[in-house]
Amino acid sequence: MDPSSEYFIRKLPEIDQELIYQILELKKEKNVLILAHNYQCEGVQLVADLLGDSLGLAKKVIKATQNDIIFAGVRFMAETAKVLNPNKRIHFPATGSLCDMAAYLKADMIREYKLKNPGIPVVLYINSTAESKTLADIVCTSSNAVNIVKYIQQQTNAPKIAFGPDKNLGAYICKMSGIPIDIIPPHGNCYVHDKYTIKDVSKARKQHPEATLLIHPEAPLEVLDLADYIGSTSMIIHYPVEHPQITSYIIGTEIGVTEQLRRNHPEKTFSPLNENAICTAMKSITLKSILDCIKNIDSDKFIVEIQEDIMKKSQDAINKMIEVR
Ligand code: SF4
Repeated sequence: MDPSSEYFIRKLPEIDQELIYQILELKKEKNVLILAHNYQCEGVQLVADLLGDSLGLAKKVIKATQNDIIFAGVRFMAETAKVLNPNKRIHFPATGSLCDMAAYLKADMIREYKLKNPGIPVVLYINSTAESKTLADIVCTSSNAVNIVKYIQQQTNAPKIAFGPDKNLGAYICKMSGIPIDIIPPHGNCYVHDKYTIKDVSKARKQHPEATLLIHPEAPLEVLDLADYIGSTSMIIHYPVEHPQITSYIIGTEIGVTEQLRRNHPEKTFSPLNENAICTAMKSITLKSILDCIKNIDSDKFIVEIQEDIMKKSQDAINKMIEVR
């Protein structure tokens, strides 16, 4: 563990510090790899071997030497890791923890759309269930969504593209690509990013007039129009590294990213666009649940299982994206 992590562990309540040291010891003893999404709470981020976004983490599992991997994120992310790594034992340390956005889109909605719109390609955001992905022509992430939609439209010459489940990302893709988009379902959204308003931006700009505003494309279009930079969580995390001259930021994505940026760049200032931008599904994973998972690592208590046919078809849609990008 690097000394800066030790410094941040000591800033947490004593009870969390104890849990962290127990987890770090057991992780070594049982040869377990812990992956955590950027939106996880600070304690969970501190015990993780790798931090990142859903696809980045799923791809890192491929290179892992460990057979047992704990995925601290939401369920569709653990499923993606399993789909890309069928031979690894992926453990998901929560019982529910389904991303609210992924839950909007039921596989039957896509079947119904396809029946009514034969020949229209379906592009699904990676934030969807493995079952929904089996019905997609291709998957995309927030960083490659515009390019993937342009690619599919060029390949098929279709008059429009179906995209789900985020209405805001869909509107952003439509604006950036000029391609008409049908959103499935029309109201799908991430409540964490959908709550950003023009008022939040005015307030934050007033409080931090010198700051650069970075926003995730799951936010509403009218808010994105006011951003200095629009990018995925990974792009937002890299932005300050690439712009050493900028010392103050307003961060328009889940609060876990602001916390991570403060740890990575203690000399800079990071203020959340809205301090209530908290994903409760992500935060349902705690140090206690990680410890419970690691103690049960030899059992199937937290293991992620996916039906073989779902595994194969969703793998095709994800692999197609990996080939294209
Ligand atoms: S922040 Fe939004 S999209 Fe991300 S996991 Fe939470 S509910 Fe899903």
